[in-house]
Amino acid sequence: MNFFPESVEAPERVRGLPKRRTARSDTRADQIARMQYLTWLWLAGGVAMGSATLVCFRLGARLGTAGFVYLTIIVLLSLMDSFVTSAVFSATAVGCLAFFFSPPVFSFRVAEIRDVVALIAFLAAALAITTLVRRVRWLGEAAREQARLLDLSHDTVIVRDMNAVITYWNHGAEELYGWKKAEALGRTSHQLLQTRFPASLDDAMDTLLRTGRWEGELVHTKRDGSQVVVASRWSLQRSANGRPISALETNNDITLRKCAEDALRRSQAAYLAEAQKLSLTGSFGWDPVSGEIFWSEQSFRIFEYDPDITPTIELALQRVHPDDVALVRQVIDRAVHGAPDFDFEHRLLMPDSSVKHLHVVAHVVTDEPGKRQFVGAIMDVTATKLSAQKLHEAQTELARVTRVTTLGELSASIAHEVSQPLAAIVTNGDACLRWLGHPNPELAEVQTCITRMIGEGRRASEIVRHIRTLAKKDAPHKTRLDLNDVINDVVCLTQREVLSHKVSLCLRLASGLPPLQGDRVQLQQVIINLMMNGIQSMDCIDGRLRNLLIESRMGEEANVVVAIQDSGSGIDPENADRLFDAFFTTKPNGLGMGLSICQSIVEAHGGRMCASSKPGHGATFQLSLPAIIERSDNAPRQSDFWEFARVHRNKRTAVSQAAL
Ligand code: ADP
Repeated sequence: MNFFPESVEAPERVRGLPKRRTARSDTRADQIARMQYLTWLWLAGGVAMGSATLVCFRLGARLGTAGFVYLTIIVLLSLMDSFVTSAVFSATAVGCLAFFFSPPVFSFRVAEIRDVVALIAFLAAALAITTLVRRVRWLGEAAREQARLLDLSHDTVIVRDMNAVITYWNHGAEELYGWKKAEALGRTSHQLLQTRFPASLDDAMDTLLRTGRWEGELVHTKRDGSQVVVASRWSLQRSANGRPISALETNNDITLRKCAEDALRRSQAAYLAEAQKLSLTGSFGWDPVSGEIFWSEQSFRIFEYDPDITPTIELALQRVHPDDVALVRQVIDRAVHGAPDFDFEHRLLMPDSSVKHLHVVAHVVTDEPGKRQFVGAIMDVTATKLSAQKLHEAQTELARVTRVTTLGELSASIAHEVSQPLAAIVTNGDACLRWLGHPNPELAEVQTCITRMIGEGRRASEIVRHIRTLAKKDAPHKTRLDLNDVINDVVCLTQREVLSHKVSLCLRLASGLPPLQGDRVQLQQVIINLMMNGIQSMDCIDGRLRNLLIESRMGEEANVVVAIQDSGSGIDPENADRLFDAFFTTKPNGLGMGLSICQSIVEAHGGRMCASSKPGHGATFQLSLPAIIERSDNAPRQSDFWEFARVHRNKRTAVSQAAL
């Protein structure tokens, strides 16, 4: 059977056959066997030719009859050996015909011209038939060789006609499926193997007829009933006139590979599930058009739903904290209307009233053109949120303690500040008594004194109130305030400190600064810290003026700037990078928390802090804080929703920071 089409490749393989034989006959035993075969053949040929000549001559056969007999013998001989043997016997036959059967007899001379033509025709016919026979033999041998090679293959090779009837079944097919060739030939392949197609047989045949090829994975049932997965390749064979005649099917057993892949997939899925459990991160897939949702096991765990129920958006929304439902709906809406990704935080309110904080990220993956599917992760960040909150509570407490410590350092100034109005009250009280002791009490003077006393009393109580707020454990509270007022409050408290350190304080406060949203006490703490640091840095200065300049002005990008400049020792360049690190100090009794707390406070207000210095010539600490920009339409500053979502997230992150 030759199922290769008549292509260039086939004759080459056929021609290769005798060559391999020649190569094999190189061995001595083969050469001897060949010689013996040739001797036997030539002897038999000679006997046959001789007998035929004798019989034909005795019977008085004519040239044509004898030629026919010789031709039969030559064809038989050519079936048994090579072209050379046939050619030699053809030439011998021509000689015999000329000698015995064409006048004059017993002479190789041929008298009649038509006998010469007949002899030439005989020789040509003999050689042509011999060549044809040889080609048929080659083709047969090539087909047998192909079949033998295909039998050596471990893959199964099946040939079936266009009715799916098996016409070839190699050794690999016998081994894999269990049916012998004789049992399989003539059976309908898909019925015999109970083939399961990825789509359908019709689909596969359509592709085969259209493209000449088909490839895919099939499930076959073996003779013993077990199933095998094969990687199958079909190739369509056509006749010379292009008509489909058969399909060559090679099947490669991939059952083990499939099992290994499945096992790997299963183990990867198990690892992934475990990792999701450990990291408290669930995954999800969501088709915004169909609304179809996939949740991983961990996602079910986060939402505390039974894994058997089908997740839906509504189901998820049922768990969302009432305050965050609007935000979540907006995100969903954006995603449905074409947003390519989302990244936001929201809270869940669980049935036991506990609150979970989730961070959700997702982006679109496009499997097929026009089909959008979101793939994302749901991270349960509750623990992180709580610990961040605890950390910020601790920082708030630390900031308060530092404030109280600073108040302790300022006690002399505070005492002075309080004693001044008290002294004034006493003085005015004395004056009052004196005016009242006059025979004609000067009531107008008394009134003036009492007014002054009330003013001084108010001043003293204001100072006490300041001190109390600085020392109080109140939660931070941001209000609309004027930064110049904050500076003036602080200057008032530190006046005595400035005087006792022989510092010349200069205020250069810009008028008409826009207000800002801030916590008065915290901002006072920042300015006190910076002033005290500046004053202390000038302690060692001799021979030049101790100047402390506090400046306020409008900065870039709608920020209000405060700069506190001293003429002290300046900052050693080596320390410049560590100034704002917690516990960094160069003072013998320093704590190293002042600047670190100042920076946290400023950043919690959305601002920035920096320091510059000319060593030996003082330092400047500058903070810039965002001002409130009045807008006529009262619209929020963030025009874009995503900016809103981001800010919303940052707001949550900053919740406890803001507590500072
Ligand atoms: P502490 O005052 O307890 O040392 P701070 O955080 O307030 O902690 O300051 C940290 C360090 O920064 C100081 O020890 C000092 O070396 C340096 N520093 C702060 N302010 C100034 C300043 N105005 N001039 C020079 N050095 C300063």
